[in-house]
Amino acid sequence: MLDGWTGKISKENNSTGAKPKTGLPLVSRDGQTQTIVRVKNVSIGGDEAVVMAGPCSVESREQVVSTALAIKKSGAVMLRGGAYKPRTSPYDFQGLGLEGLRLLREAGDIADLPVITEVMSEEDVPIICDFADMLQIGARNMQNFALLRKVARTNKPVLLKRGASATVKEWLSAAEYLLHGGNERVVLCERGIKSFDTALRNTLDLASVALVKEMTHLPVIVDPSHATGKRSLISATAKAAIAVGADGVIVEVHPQPEIALSDSAQQLTFQGFAELMENLQTPLRNIAVGRELAVLA
Ligand code: PEP
Ligand code: MN
Repeated sequence: MLDGWTGKISKENNSTGAKPKTGLPLVSRDGQTQTIVRVKNVSIGGDEAVVMAGPCSVESREQVVSTALAIKKSGAVMLRGGAYKPRTSPYDFQGLGLEGLRLLREAGDIADLPVITEVMSEEDVPIICDFADMLQIGARNMQNFALLRKVARTNKPVLLKRGASATVKEWLSAAEYLLHGGNERVVLCERGIKSFDTALRNTLDLASVALVKEMTHLPVIVDPSHATGKRSLISATAKAAIAVGADGVIVEVHPQPEIALSDSAQQLTFQGFAELMENLQTPLRNIAVGRELAVLA
């Protein structure tokens, strides 16, 4: 029945080569040294934990420029901001699109920070590449394989967010698509998953961060904003993320979170972000809670 079967999947089967023995050879840690992804002058995956910050959505020039300057002053190394927004309802603010990209780029240039923004569809890839230093594939698109393939063919680093209902294997398989397609500059991002508990927006799966650090050579960062949906929890969860081994965090910041056009409840004020950065300074990479272990008296 399997006459002539070589174990290779033919080109006619629309594959690009032999099926590997282990499922995810390109992202697996197996013998590979830790990958450091460079975005301009920022290194993700090395000794230093990176902090990316900025508004959920780019709303105006004043909003994004003031945020860029504030986060830079507090020590962030990259500016985030959504121009094309994946919103649950079509009646919600959808982002400024091209104008948002222009404003994000301008703000990044003024503050001298590399910029990251989400790409939602294949057709937007070229224009977003013209403006952004790093592309974000959002949770809702983690398994949009056509988008993964297209982004794999760009020369831009990629932040691949974990889907809200994606297993670790599905998340890493999505990353494998990017590497298989030719893009090795991939950073993974845990941003909370759906669980039975509705007390918070999502459930931050910190154990998966430690697990994925073991399983792959790719850098992994955490998004405590989308994971919790709650401003007061960002600092604690960001510290926990660094303590568990994350290579950085990405956090939402807005000049006036209460009037933000998206994700109002989870964006930090400039003051809140400055405090977060202070909290993260000591003793980052050691024990982030700053407590001694109890000893028997
Ligand atoms: C975002 O970063 O603004 C966003 C929409 O994130 P996620 O894809 O994780 O929901
Ligand atoms: Mn958001």
